[in-house]
Amino acid sequence: MDLSTPLAALDWLAPPRVRQLGRVGVSTVEDLLAHYPKRYEDRSQFDRFPTGDTPDPVCVCGLVKKTSIRRIRGGQKMFDVVLEEEKPHALSEPLLCRWFNVHWVEKTIVHGQRLVVYGRPKRSAGAVVIAHPEFEVVEEDAEVSIHLRRIVPIHRATEGLSPRLIRQIVWDVLAHVGESANPPRLPASLDATPRLWALRQIHFPDNADALAKARRHLVLEEFFGMQLSIAAKRAEQLAQPGAIHAGSDELMRRLHAALPFPLTGAQQRAIGEIRADLASPRPMNRLLHGDVGSGKTLVALSAMLLAVEAGYQAALMAPTQILAEQHYLNLHRLCEPLGLRVALRTGERREDSAPLPLFANATAPVPGGALDPSAAAGDPPGASGARFSRGRLPHFEFPWAIYAIAFNVLDSRHLTEAARDIVLDSILHWRGQRYELFAACVMPDHVHLLIQPMIKGNAADGSAEFFSLTEIMHSIKSWTAHEINRLQGEEGGLWQKEWFDRFTRSDRDLAEKYRYILNNPWATGVAREGESYRWCWAWDSQSSSTEASAAGRGGRHAGRVLHPEPESAAARIADSEPHLLVGTHALLYEGAGFTRLGLAVIDEQHKFGVLQRARLRAQGAAPDVLVMTATPIPRTLTMTVYGDLDVSTLDELPRNRGKIVTAVRDAAKLNDAAKFIREHLEAGRQAYIVYPLIDESEKVESKAAAAEFGKWQELLAPMKCELLHGRIPAEEKERIMERFRRGETKALIATTVIEVGIDVPNANIMLIENAERFGLAQLHQLRGRIGRGEHKSYCILLRSAKMKADVKAEAEEKLATLERTGDGFEIAEADLRMRGPGDILGTAQSGLPPLKIGDVFADRDLMQLARNAAFLILERDPRLEEPAHVPYRALLAEARRLTLAQVS
Ligand code: ADP
Ligand code: MG
Repeated sequence: MDLSTPLAALDWLAPPRVRQLGRVGVSTVEDLLAHYPKRYEDRSQFDRFPTGDTPDPVCVCGLVKKTSIRRIRGGQKMFDVVLEEEKPHALSEPLLCRWFNVHWVEKTIVHGQRLVVYGRPKRSAGAVVIAHPEFEVVEEDAEVSIHLRRIVPIHRATEGLSPRLIRQIVWDVLAHVGESANPPRLPASLDATPRLWALRQIHFPDNADALAKARRHLVLEEFFGMQLSIAAKRAEQLAQPGAIHAGSDELMRRLHAALPFPLTGAQQRAIGEIRADLASPRPMNRLLHGDVGSGKTLVALSAMLLAVEAGYQAALMAPTQILAEQHYLNLHRLCEPLGLRVALRTGERREDSAPLPLFANATAPVPGGALDPSAAAGDPPGASGARFSRGRLPHFEFPWAIYAIAFNVLDSRHLTEAARDIVLDSILHWRGQRYELFAACVMPDHVHLLIQPMIKGNAADGSAEFFSLTEIMHSIKSWTAHEINRLQGEEGGLWQKEWFDRFTRSDRDLAEKYRYILNNPWATGVAREGESYRWCWAWDSQSSSTEASAAGRGGRHAGRVLHPEPESAAARIADSEPHLLVGTHALLYEGAGFTRLGLAVIDEQHKFGVLQRARLRAQGAAPDVLVMTATPIPRTLTMTVYGDLDVSTLDELPRNRGKIVTAVRDAAKLNDAAKFIREHLEAGRQAYIVYPLIDESEKVESKAAAAEFGKWQELLAPMKCELLHGRIPAEEKERIMERFRRGETKALIATTVIEVGIDVPNANIMLIENAERFGLAQLHQLRGRIGRGEHKSYCILLRSAKMKADVKAEAEEKLATLERTGDGFEIAEADLRMRGPGDILGTAQSGLPPLKIGDVFADRDLMQLARNAAFLILERDPRLEEPAHVPYRALLAEARRLTLAQVS
């Protein structure tokens, strides 16, 4: 028996147990051993019986002295068990365990038994009580070494399987499993502990040290798998053909020269990093993050200008209508003088309306820009209605690989011009159906292809099946042989049996092969310099200029080139088309009007799913992608959720930023706060009053707004106040903002629509009502609207008196954090820690599987180690071919399977 043995094959395990385990996805020995304990009880050394409330749960062992069932109000039943310590001492007190209406417990616990009990005690009516404790009946004799007198694992119980039963099964399985067939899944450099040892110790640790060591091994294993899949995803992205998207710096320089301030060092550095990416034919996937007000928009705009100058369109996608409009106005103002056309594309769709069609069928679109077969040619044949995804692949291979293929005609044959027509037609015939074609060249005696096989359909288990090279070659060869023989009145074979395929390993490799193929007729002298060769076909001219000119030399198969290479960069974007597009989700849909998308900037990436990012990519040939976040991203996330991206950090605020004092006050202090605000308004400053929206329905919203507005008008009279919220039409909103900007309006009563994009340096006060209702990051983001001018700024966080006890502690901590620090990086960490990684990492948005054992915060140093190791290995051996690396394939496949299960 080894780890892959199905549980069903174990004759000593009762079939009903196998079925019960199967229902929770445990069907092999490996699955069972990966069902890690949720906690441990040290039953070699129990806690003393509690004498009162304790903050943490206790684990005690005692004898059942008495049980009783009482009927109480409302037909409820209360079951009490009195537990006594086996070796009581002077201060010992019996422990009362109590259950309400749990029938099976009444039948399980009887007088005289020994019980292990786990729970949080409370003193109540003179007794120490644990309500609904976890418990286990233990016997001293037979099973001593499993359930007692050791560190005992407590597994998550599942339907019909108690922790005790699972423990027993795991114990038995571990007793049978052999040492042999368990290849290491971690490079020894990371952790040389044998895997099986770690699996044994994680369930039945010898002591605390062994447990820690085992856990470290398994956490590393889990992280290493995750980082391998991230590294593989990144390698795939890099292997896709990209294009050079940077022109001269002329437009950008003019923009910068027109600014009233110098760029910060961090901005210059970020622009430099982005520029290098744009200038390389490698596709860019970069994250730009930094604190509120660090000037990300300007960095993004600079990048967009570089792309425009190179003859491409650039798009900026924002998560909400209002933010898109803000960006549009901003870009319009800055770019109009440069002679650029800026367009706004927003749909009717609001961000809170129906799910995107993208998600409606639980499909994962395949990241990969134009190489995504569904984007290039609709669903592949045979997949009608069926869905496929990159991660649900049946086995480890390079399904989205691009292959350079060459095949020869028999020595006795030669392709006439008419025959070459037939061959090229045939190749083009299957294009978009069985493969994406990038280049083809039919020579008199051989053929070159550059293709990427497409999805054929879904296997019964939902995994994707691809057209194999064999199938593809067979259809081309047999059909052309048949047609050509018929045309020429010949019989017999035409092609040599074998063909030669080479997998392209990198973008440079791809570009070389592409060039090589398209140059073939001239390089071999079949065509003369300057002469055209019409059996040469190229995918597209949206590629780097070197490729294009090589391909263009002597002209190509006329009429078959998708986009003729334009004369100059300027001519590439037609007069009627915008240079810059700003929009919301609408940009994700057809007809958004990109013809030459070179750069896509996604603002506030955290509000978009990874899938949408992929979707946007798919709009252009191979656009470079820059994602921006509103607030800094903690390192834990740049290594995981954003792990496949390069990172630029704006860690410096512009120097003109004023100081912000933050204070938390009780709601009862509203009048004092209002007085404080009025004094500042009288001194010429301006203020934001932010109130939370509880219900977003239109009626409630306008009512709440009206009430708030009335209240504040009174409190601040006679200062001019205005109301701003999401339902106000865009033009009106803009007029309101304009009056505030000009200082006519002194106070803006607003919802969180002011969270983003609003910039009025004279406004130096912000009051946030019911501040506890907002998220930490959001509060920081809101606060970023002040402290923009020379005046000292004040942020008042009003906390409601009516907080429920369970949210109170967290709310207090949240507000205290804001009071203490203004450092966005620190706040982001705190936010993440408070909300817990489950909130961030366990979501479909992250595109990462939930973790079984690792903790992204506590174990972040291990994550870094795993990441370094995984990236190093895939860099050296991208196909995991070295014998030592072969076992990692399973790990990678597993990580991908989990990821996809998660996303869909
Ligand atoms: P965020 O990073 O929060 O998106 P923005 O891009 O909105 O920040 O920039 C905030 C404000 O700072 C804008 O008014 C912008 O014009 C201004 N700004 C950007 N860069 C600088 C700079 N280097 N010096 C001074 N102000 C700047
Ligand atoms: Mg911004």
